[in-house]
Amino acid sequence: MAYVITRSCCNDASCVPACPVDCIHPALTDPLFAKAEMLYIEPDACIDCGACVDECPVSAIFPEDSLPVEQESFIDINAAYFDRHPYGAEPTRPERPPALRFAPGPLRVAIVGTGPAGLYLAEQLLGLGGVEVELFDRLPTPFGLMRAGIAPDHADTQQIVEMFAPLLGKPALGLHLDVEIGTHLAHEDLLAHHHAVVYAVGAGSPRQLGIEGEGLPGSVAATDFVAWYNGHPDHAGDRYRLEGDTAIVIGTGNVALDVARILAIRPEALEGTDIADHALEELRRSSIREVVVLGRRGLLDSAFTLPELVGMGNAAGASVLIDPADTEVDAATAEWLRREAEPEVAQKLDVARQHARRPPSEGDRTVRFQYHTTPLRILGDNHVTGIEVREHRPGEEPRDRIIDASLVLRAVGYQPAPPPGLPLDASTGLAAHKHGRVDAMPGAYLVGWAKRGPRGPLGYNRADAIDTMRSIVDDAASGALDRPVGGREQLVALLAERRPGAIGLPGWRAIDDAEKTGARGSGRPRSKFTTWDALREAARASH
Ligand code: NAP
Repeated sequence: MAYVITRSCCNDASCVPACPVDCIHPALTDPLFAKAEMLYIEPDACIDCGACVDECPVSAIFPEDSLPVEQESFIDINAAYFDRHPYGAEPTRPERPPALRFAPGPLRVAIVGTGPAGLYLAEQLLGLGGVEVELFDRLPTPFGLMRAGIAPDHADTQQIVEMFAPLLGKPALGLHLDVEIGTHLAHEDLLAHHHAVVYAVGAGSPRQLGIEGEGLPGSVAATDFVAWYNGHPDHAGDRYRLEGDTAIVIGTGNVALDVARILAIRPEALEGTDIADHALEELRRSSIREVVVLGRRGLLDSAFTLPELVGMGNAAGASVLIDPADTEVDAATAEWLRREAEPEVAQKLDVARQHARRPPSEGDRTVRFQYHTTPLRILGDNHVTGIEVREHRPGEEPRDRIIDASLVLRAVGYQPAPPPGLPLDASTGLAAHKHGRVDAMPGAYLVGWAKRGPRGPLGYNRADAIDTMRSIVDDAASGALDRPVGGREQLVALLAERRPGAIGLPGWRAIDDAEKTGARGSGRPRSKFTTWDALREAARASH
């Protein structure tokens, strides 16, 4: 019997060092880690001790004999990874950097952004000892995309927040919410109170398609739709017409899969989640029966990850439709899959073939994948009525056609942009940096999507944070960082002047308690406040 890693794997690799026989791969130090869509347990090497289970922040690891039925395919998925990548007895544990001392006084680091990138970095820095971290967020709540990005039906993935909650209570960490850097405090203000300022602010804004009709009501960036159903206060007032039979999702990444699943899943399956009340009400009223996911290339070029494709088949009341023709490959591609492609690519094809073989269940809504289809124009006068697309299957004449739809969600990734005031690297569209150290701006750093662009599973931020942490520590050790003129006391005094409404840890705890209390008896983990006013008022209960 072996343990098996399943769908919610976040790739933060905290399970790897827990394993006494090094059977979880790829590890942070493995060159394959950067590409892996999840981690895998080598079944023949696993000694069945279960040590990894305690370390997993998202409950992704199960003993083989008690796997939930919808996760059983992960037994083969774990094993198959090692057919392509056999591991010897070489230990692969990541090295921990040595503990460093900064005399006199602590090393002070400001982190802008409290999402996974910022919090993994805070965790790494505080683990060194002798470091003080001040965390800033524009929102009255911490956790960034962990609160406003993870789909509500992915309760296992949402558990990652529990891993970070104790971090916020550490005396060496200061939490400053509802504070906007650039408005209430400038970069220079932060530098005056810290040795280093790290931007963990994400990758920019939703990418535009640049086609006619994109700005029509009913044509929406999928990330805005996600923010709406997750109760982000910037989106509480958004309205969606979930009318007609069909919604279109453009793009085949994990965001596309999330929004397609939420539109298609039976609303009752969301009742026990923390989805925003306004979204659940609207989804209950929805008349949409089919969600069409458009891929401009073929199935093998899909941007979704293997675990998410598997998970797509488990949404209650939603059937996945894939044209069997899209799962056929020519001899050269079959050979490439066998010899060169990562096992995950071949596994995705296998899962897609299973979906293609399965007829839709009666009464289900459907999520239909349509490949080799490029959006040309979004149609409608005052609201979206459809989309004109070009279908261009290999070996066939291209043809244009119209798909009627009341909603078009554009899930085509992000347009990268550097945080304001930081130098642009024209080749990436992000801020120019080396290992998170911003070019020609001593004391400024990047971590997460702001550093590497919008890619990689949630837990990949841990490896990324270690990289930026090393840059900061090296610079501190070499004397490259200026000593700040003020410390925590002076920072708090400045904030009291510039941002008297800033919310600290007691305010966040008051919001958290009120949201949980508000859900008591409903079977939901919390009932989110979704407006700025409601969040601020709940925070004031701590005064
Ligand atoms: P993404 O993975 O980059 O996918 C973007 C999709 O948009 C691709 O299919 C791309 O097709 C398509 N696209 C781009 N420009 C297009 C155009 N002009 N016309 C038509 N299609 C176009 O982006 P994402 O889905 O926003 O995800 C961002 C990151 O967040 C990813 O790393 C993702 O895994 C992660 N994420 C993970 C989860 C999860 O684990 N559950 C959930 C959400 C997000 P081409 O490939 O042809 O360019």
